[in-house]
Amino acid sequence: MLIVQKFGGSSVADAARIKRVAGILAETRRAGHRVVAVLSAQGDTTDELIEKARELCPEPGGRELDALLCVGEQISVALMALTLESMGLAAVSLTGWQIGLSTDDRHGAARIRCIDTARLNRELEAGKIVLVCGFQGIDDAGDLTTLGRGGSDTSAVAIAAALHADRCQIYTDVEGVYTADPRRVPEARKLEAVGYDEMMELASLGSQVLHNRSVELARRCGVELEVCSSFVRAPGTLVTEPMERTALSGVAKDADIARVTVRGVPDRPGAVLELFQLLSRADVNVDLILQSGSPDGTGDLSFTLRSADAAKVQAILEEHRAALGLRSFALDPDAAKVSLVGAGLMDAPGMAVQMFRALAEAGINIRMIASSEIKLSVVVPRAEADKAVRAVHQRFFANES
Ligand code: ASP
Ligand code: MG
Repeated sequence: MLIVQKFGGSSVADAARIKRVAGILAETRRAGHRVVAVLSAQGDTTDELIEKARELCPEPGGRELDALLCVGEQISVALMALTLESMGLAAVSLTGWQIGLSTDDRHGAARIRCIDTARLNRELEAGKIVLVCGFQGIDDAGDLTTLGRGGSDTSAVAIAAALHADRCQIYTDVEGVYTADPRRVPEARKLEAVGYDEMMELASLGSQVLHNRSVELARRCGVELEVCSSFVRAPGTLVTEPMERTALSGVAKDADIARVTVRGVPDRPGAVLELFQLLSRADVNVDLILQSGSPDGTGDLSFTLRSADAAKVQAILEEHRAALGLRSFALDPDAAKVSLVGAGLMDAPGMAVQMFRALAEAGINIRMIASSEIKLSVVVPRAEADKAVRAVHQRFFANES
């Protein structure tokens, strides 16, 4: 088999951990498989490099920041190759450009175009364990690019797709994907398998196991992902397209949101457009939006955004409230979104009632509700988010396993 194994920053953080990962790679190779390992920068290296740049330049970015950040992953692959060689195994470290991983030229957020597999295949045929830098590529001008924070997952999936690998394993510091964050919900259970769609909801809602783009790419290319721990040898979670989607996958929390309520939105075409156009020009990403009409002809509007943008939105609304014809607005900077995720929500009408009952019994005030085919989200006060997750988890997952 040809196996792509990706190891995150915490898995290669120091010499002892590098040795442990080298052991996993050696074991896979000795079992007769061909191996490509995609590595992230050690521990907090990427953050530290950004910090170093900030000491010298107020807003580092673009080509030169990418040139700097690419170094982190290069350290990891070179150290791993040296480790494997010292164990008597043939290995080779390769950068993003050495494997012809070409991207567009959006520095810091580059998209992968294609991978030239010739070099990878040559090294694999020579029997080497191939160690590749995650997170980096090269653009048409020959400049280094990076894929965005957490991008090594996406590198691994892209390489697995290009090589038609039999497996793509994402090794991380948790044992798999859980029904809730196991650090906060002790009774959370590891999922054996989860669908791509559900995984994407869980990832974007703050479960943080996999980079969102990697799951989307995996689905599009039909790459099955296995999320497992580099510290505990146990079966992980398979991210795949199940034959039939059933049941519930988990409860996710995004504790980093703010909520805006606007009263008296004028009752005329374009009123909402003008408001959101202002926000979009200021690069504010709006998530949930609810609008309702009032009997007097005006409407009320609520929406959520990232807390980091709260001050910016406050200033925009203060400046433009009168011109937009809005009666008043209020901003709640300390909100959180708690979501129940699962394809089972689609054909089980009682789920919403059960979720609201769980929250009511826990004494939690719901400030906003939104639903889609496979998720049901509520906005609650941030201070109560963990309690809300536990209450919902208890209601839907307590009697399983
Ligand atoms: N080292 C990069 C980061 O910290 C990429 C990654 O870890 O996936 O964002
Ligand atoms: Mg990292």
